[in-house]
Order: sequence, then structure tokens, then C-alpha cells
Amino acid sequence: EKIKGGFLLHIQRSESLYQEALDVIVGGVNSPSRSFRAVGNGTPIFMKKAQGAYFWDEDGNRYVDYLAAFGPIILGHAHPAVTSAIVEAAANGVLYGTPTEKEIRFAQMLREAIPSMEQIRFVNSGTEAVMTTIRLARAYTGRDKILKFAGCYHGHSDLVLVAAGSGPSTLGIPDSAGIPSSIAREVITVPYNDIQAFEEAIRHWGDQIAGVLVEPLVGNFGIVPPAPDFLEQVNKLAHQAGALVIYDEVITAFRFHYGGIQTLFNIEPDLTALGKIIGGGLPIGAYGGKREIMDKVAPMGPMYQAGTMAGNPLSISAGTACLQTLSHPGVYERLDQMGKTLSKEILSLADQYGINITLNRMGGAFTVYFTGEPVTDYQGAQSADGELFAQFFRHMLAEGVYLAPSKYEAWFLTTAHSDEDIQFTIRAVKRSFKKMKP
Ligand code: PLP
Repeated sequence: EKIKGGFLLHIQRSESLYQEALDVIVGGVNSPSRSFRAVGNGTPIFMKKAQGAYFWDEDGNRYVDYLAAFGPIILGHAHPAVTSAIVEAAANGVLYGTPTEKEIRFAQMLREAIPSMEQIRFVNSGTEAVMTTIRLARAYTGRDKILKFAGCYHGHSDLVLVAAGSGPSTLGIPDSAGIPSSIAREVITVPYNDIQAFEEAIRHWGDQIAGVLVEPLVGNFGIVPPAPDFLEQVNKLAHQAGALVIYDEVITAFRFHYGGIQTLFNIEPDLTALGKIIGGGLPIGAYGGKREIMDKVAPMGPMYQAGTMAGNPLSISAGTACLQTLSHPGVYERLDQMGKTLSKEILSLADQYGINITLNRMGGAFTVYFTGEPVTDYQGAQSADGELFAQFFRHMLAEGVYLAPSKYEAWFLTTAHSDEDIQFTIRAVKRSFKKMKP
């Protein structure tokens, strides 16, 4: 059996499951990013089991996993501390619909790590968390417009599925069918790291903007750090205009250190949205911020938000165990050291085989862009060669390394990756680069 493109991999069972899936699950996948559309189509690999740094697919192939489920699995799969927390919680009932002590302790843990979240509310996904911060910013300021940065992904609620126009600062056009243009008109999009464009947008619409939504370090068109002073200027200009600053730390929180980008860079937003890692692999989201703003949330205030599953004992227990494990000394140093070793070798192999790449890294997360140019914004990421990435992705898959199936995603290291896994991956990169045809 071969997957499209002539790369040898036995995936017969994945192929037949995919045919069945296509019949009953739309597109065969429960999230479009799991399909292989961005890497030239073909059968997505159906996984059967995951343990530590590895996946095993339905045909018995093993892969070293750098997807980490698009970010949450920072401790690797089936980490014993998380697994036993889930099992123990499940035995005591999975959902109460009442408050629990666990929720308080977990909220306290989050606030201790990210003090700008003076008050917190748990929800079920990053999408919900961000969506609610937007509603809250609107409720608090009495304004309607939202400013976001091009290429940043903030979940799939209407307001944030709005694309960038081509100009330096444009009102949005819907990025998805089904979003009214009246909603898209409430969104202003400017390029990331372009403080001039931001200033221009603030000058034009400042008094109508409720909130400025920022990934304080981008994880959604690959890893792109903020330029020096970018976040400070965003804070300053937004606040001068009377707008709130919302940090979407769904990807970044607890990834690079025990806290958020805001605590790492020592800069505070008004509101923060969390997700992914804080659930230890179970569904979760959380939002929070200054008490004065959070006071607007029901039942305290007039802004409504609720959730049947919110703060459920399983997600809270898994998240608590995950953060406890991440708080151990040396965890982030180890992730950083592996990221450094792997990225250094990838750069040197690219050089050796004459392949132009740009590698952006922060700690244990990095993106390999097939371009010779620096990548500091969405346009830069778009200009990376998608065809070359697709070749690379398929060679790596055949070598037993699972990367996210898109040139816009990051490689995520986990605490389960061993030095041997890193060496295995370096050999896979070497063989893949050798076979690639630019
Ligand atoms: N915000 C950011 C920065 C994300 O990366 C994501 C998911 O990839 C989301 C929000 C949405 O989170 P979820 O998929 O849990 O709804």
C-alpha cells in the first residue's frame, strides 16, 4: 500500500476506515485540520493507541508524535499522573452540575501562575474562552468592534473567523460561509508585528473598538514571536483608545514556562483566554481577568455565559495533575534543550542538502518554513513553500515521524520525548531532505 505521492507506508486499514468515515462523518474527520488536505490530500492516518511520545496506527505503524494533539499533550500520551487523576475522578462521578472544591483549587493554581486572571471562569474549549472574552469586552466597554491580527486563529466563533484584507488595515471579510457580513464588519484586521498598521487602525476606529485580541506569541501560522516592543505598544495604544487588551494564550500558556507569555515577558492584558494544556488533554477552556471586568459576568453582572459541562471534575482533575507535573523543576529546561538540539540539527541538514528553510523556535515548539526569508507575519508564513512541506511531511510519515499536516503548524516537543527519539527524528529528517526535490 502506498499513500499518494509514492511514499511507502502500509496503511490499508486506515484507507478502509477512511472510506467508512467519509460515509458517516463529514469529510471523514471531526476537525478539518486533521484531514490531509493541506498536504496534497490522501488518507489521513487513523491512530489506534498512543503512549508517551508515540502513536500506533491501525496498521501497526509507530510514529514519534510531534503533533501533541495540536498542543495539549505536553506530557506525552497517557501520562500516569494524568491518567490516574482521570480514573480516580471518574469513579466519583463525571459531572455534577454543582460547584466543587476542585474547581476552586484549580482556579487558584491558574491565578497564582497568571496573576492578571484575578477572577476566572471555566468553559469547555479555547473557542468558547475567546468568544466569551470578546462578549465581555463589548459588555464592559459598550463598544462593538474587535481588532485582531491577520493569520491568528482564535477558534471558530463567528467574529474571529474573519480574514485579513490585503491592505495594511482593513475591515474584515468572512473567512467562512455562514458568517453575516454585518458581523465581519465589526472586525478590524491588521498584520502581526506591524505597529504602524495597528496605530493607523486605532487612529481610524479607536473609539469604536471594544477589544484588541492578540496571540502574544503566535502559534497559528507557525511559531512567530512578537517583535521587541510590539506587545507594549499594543497595550499602550489600545488603552489610550479605551479598548481592552485580550491575550489568547490557548497555545502559549504553560508551554514555555509555568505561566503565560504575559508572565514570561512581564506584560499584562486585561483579559486572558486559556485552553489546551490546562486540560491535560481533556476538553477545557478558561477565561479571566481584572475583577472589575469579570464582575460583568452572570450571575454577578449583565453578560450571560454558561455551560453544562463547564468545570467538570474530569477536565479539572486532568488539568490539575498536568500543571502539578509541569511545576516540577527542570521540565521547561528539558523541553528547551530538546528544541534546541533538534532545531540546530534540522538547520544544519537543510544547509547540507541545499534546502532553504527558516526555523522559528520558542522553547520546545518550533516551525520549519520552507523559505529563505524571515517569517514575522502571516504573509511571510504564506510565502513558505507548501508543496515542499507536503513532500517533507510525507517522507517524515514514512520514516515514522508524525508532524501536523500543515505548513502553518508547529512541532511540539513533550516531556515524553527521549534523546533517542530526537536522534531517531534527526535521522528521519536527514533521509527526508535527501529525497526531497525542490
Ligand atoms: N486560540 C488559539 C490560539 C488556538 O490555537 C486555538 C486552537 O487551536 C483556539 C483558540 C481554539 O481552541 P479550541 O480548538 O479548543 O476551541
